[in-house]
Amino acid sequence: MSESLNPPPNKPRVRFAPSPTGFLHVGSARTFIFNWLYARRNNGTMILRLDDTDVERNTDASVNSIFEGLKWLGLSWDEEYKQSERGDLHRQMAETIFQKGLAYRDFTPAHTGDSERSGAQGTWLLNPGMRELSREESDRRAAAGEPFALRFRVPRDCGVVRFTDAVYGEQMKAGADIEDFALLRSDGMPTYHLASCADDADLRISHVIRGQDHLSNTYKHVLIFEAAGFTPPQFAHLPLLVAPDGTKLSKRKHGQVVSVTTYRDAGFLPEAFINFLCLLGWSPKNDREQMSRQELVDAFSLEGINRANAVVNFKEPATTPEETFDPKAVWLNAEHIRGMAIEELSQRLLPIVQEAGFNVTPEKMLRITPLIRERIKLLRDVLTAADFFFVDQLPPYDPAELIPQKGDAAMALKALQRAKEVLAGIEFKHDPLDQSLRAAAQELGIKAGQMFQPIRVAVCGRKNAPPLFETLEVLGRETTLARIEQAIPKLG
Ligand code: GLU
Repeated sequence: MSESLNPPPNKPRVRFAPSPTGFLHVGSARTFIFNWLYARRNNGTMILRLDDTDVERNTDASVNSIFEGLKWLGLSWDEEYKQSERGDLHRQMAETIFQKGLAYRDFTPAHTGDSERSGAQGTWLLNPGMRELSREESDRRAAAGEPFALRFRVPRDCGVVRFTDAVYGEQMKAGADIEDFALLRSDGMPTYHLASCADDADLRISHVIRGQDHLSNTYKHVLIFEAAGFTPPQFAHLPLLVAPDGTKLSKRKHGQVVSVTTYRDAGFLPEAFINFLCLLGWSPKNDREQMSRQELVDAFSLEGINRANAVVNFKEPATTPEETFDPKAVWLNAEHIRGMAIEELSQRLLPIVQEAGFNVTPEKMLRITPLIRERIKLLRDVLTAADFFFVDQLPPYDPAELIPQKGDAAMALKALQRAKEVLAGIEFKHDPLDQSLRAAAQELGIKAGQMFQPIRVAVCGRKNAPPLFETLEVLGRETTLARIEQAIPKLG
């Protein structure tokens, strides 16, 4: 065997190569993350390559959406390329293959359309007339300006094309079953197969980690690499993400739930969302589920990737965001929220509250955060879990809520009136609040709980609320008394 043009790099070099034709798909994000984990785990290089050669379908909005999604996830890369700027390199590789006699010009006008782009489509495997055209004839027609596509001359008698996929194992296909796919279209544009291989070779990519939908393309890629004198990279294909009904997750069919920014806007933490994506198709050895970014880096290996499709269990149509998303994603998010330092969580909640139009200071948010941390699953839940801290005026609530268990309106009234007197004169700190309200209950001959419930509902507008004394501390005397004042007539 002749010496390869690309001795393997010492450290892994991997790439994420999205085609910017829509928003950042959750499957693409997972592909980025698996490449990124592999690079970070092995001190390798992470490359972002925009596969933007399809000028009709690429949009700037899509490029922005990809960057926006990756930025939200806090993912970085070391090198960046645009495939559209590398056309000369792609054509050079095509030329090398052609000069070796391993590709031929196809002047058939019928093959200038979609079948070129999608390769395997159509019923033809090769076009004998063109494949066997003499070099002289081919040169003459090209020189005369006749347009042609350049097709790979797939060896018909080579037995099988084979490669070992790090996830799917040994793969082989008879050369006779692979069509003479295009390298250059008749307009001179490189096809995906050519551009991708030329770039992977030039960028010295050591591992191609991408979606399983590209597994069948890989035979062609192996042929291209070898024809051009390169050792193919190691391939690792990732199981597909599918909807609960088993269909491939697609933007067209499943809509927003497939877009990364939907999760951002719904209040997922990027670290929790990354954690969730990692568990779609990868099983850590330790079987742990909640993992930090660093733990994911430390645990990641290609061996842990599964072959079975990974189901994203979203529900559509659903009424609340919490119902829409995969329960595991929501659970992981709640776990990450609980594991987060109060200061940090508070900083993440603050802009959500402010953007919803509430006037809250960082100091106040910092005091509210520990009271709701256990009560929220998505960041946006802060708006419902802590609304009464932010509003001047409580929304209307059912006065029956003010009435304590095993009590009546008269008991609630008594409790609130006594509370008003007590709260007017004590320090708004946990212990004094606790002691004096308990003492007041005793004086009135009612249970502490029967004292606390009317107060809780009066200040929060509902029974299900954070711990009472801490809540009162944050609300302060003025607001507390005003709300009790407003509650009293409701019992009349
Ligand atoms: N641009 C291709 C895609 O988005 C890249 C496939 C590959 O990684 O080779 O599917």
